[in-house]
Amino acid sequence: MSHTPAYAAQSAGKPLGPHTIERRTPGAHDVAIDIKFCGVCHSDLHTARNEWGNTRYPSVPGHEIVGTVTAVGKNVKHFKAGDTVGVGCMVDSCGHCDSCKAGEENYCENGFTGTYNGPAQADGGNTYGGYSSNVVVDEKFVLRITHKDDLAAVAPLLCAGITTYSPLRHWGAGPGRKVGIVGLGGLGHMGVKLAHAMGAHVVLFTTSPNKVADGKRLGADEVVISKDADQMAQHVGSFDFILNTVAASHNLDAFLNLLKRDGTMCLVGAPEHPHPSPTVFNLIMKRRAIAGSLIGGIRETQEMLDFCAEHGIVSDIEMIAMRDINKAYERMLKSDVKYRFVIDMQSLKDEAKAA
Ligand code: NAP
Ligand code: ZN
Repeated sequence: MSHTPAYAAQSAGKPLGPHTIERRTPGAHDVAIDIKFCGVCHSDLHTARNEWGNTRYPSVPGHEIVGTVTAVGKNVKHFKAGDTVGVGCMVDSCGHCDSCKAGEENYCENGFTGTYNGPAQADGGNTYGGYSSNVVVDEKFVLRITHKDDLAAVAPLLCAGITTYSPLRHWGAGPGRKVGIVGLGGLGHMGVKLAHAMGAHVVLFTTSPNKVADGKRLGADEVVISKDADQMAQHVGSFDFILNTVAASHNLDAFLNLLKRDGTMCLVGAPEHPHPSPTVFNLIMKRRAIAGSLIGGIRETQEMLDFCAEHGIVSDIEMIAMRDINKAYERMLKSDVKYRFVIDMQSLKDEAKAA
């Protein structure tokens, strides 16, 4: 066991603050990682504030982790000290259900173990995420990072990247396909970059008029202000696929109307409150579908990281110190993220040393 500095929420209503956690001594299959950077996902905020009603406190969020291997267990085959690695949203799964066998541990039928918020481990403990100085993870859930530099901007690929890559691939984003991305936040901006790199015609939907130029710079062929009915009307019945990343409940009909016959809108945003029920006629008239998607499996996460390294794709980030996390959450709630906060974990190490 090692005492590890971290930042935790102690209850739903309290801001995050310094907290010490225990990390296990690396076992035979474990990789010990010194955390360099951790991205800030809106799911961290939903969890810290118990917006999904399942938070176990103390809660140490963070599932966009990039760091350096410091030690490996004796049976570890694929990593060695000094390697640059990533950890995303999962640190374990059952390994024997159909989903795990298919490499889709994210859909483990016995429930995967989240990088934070458990569920509880065999020893009864919670799991603690990347808002901490180090982590110990089974090598099966450790990703190889081949980007040569800009590692802080690689961190968000571990959740925002894979959560958009997986549905874009599943629903065939590519040349000749018109793909919509709803919301230009952490997930949305990765969705725009990835759909563009896959060769699709990309249309960004945003509620923020001041993000139009950025949307185009990031790879959108067109940007639509989703609150403007006239702009929306120009796209009725034209989309093959829409990826909806919005973190708040909203009217889905406005987007369903834009799908072609047999088009699908995939929801990845996971708001605290349910969306108003969509109108059934919008679905049945054109055999449209609403779907969902949850992060991606480990194999696909490695594929996404390699795709991004090959295409020179990283996240657009704003680096923060650990102590500024609560301010970052407030800005995230105002859709004021350009386009992912990433914590420089040196700031936590310095803070812990000074304390
Ligand atoms: P984020 O950075 O806060 O981005 C969300 C974006 O949604 C905002 O920037 C804003 O974009 C738009 N938005 C916010 N409030 C809105 C409203 N009331 N109406 C319309 N648009 C609104 O969040 P994120 O980290 O990308 O996460 C997005 C959601 O995905 C969260 O709910 C998160 O928990 C969830 N998530 C799901 C998975 C999964 O596996 N399914 C994985 C990770 C995260 P504009 O300013 O452009 O409108
Ligand atoms: Zn996330």
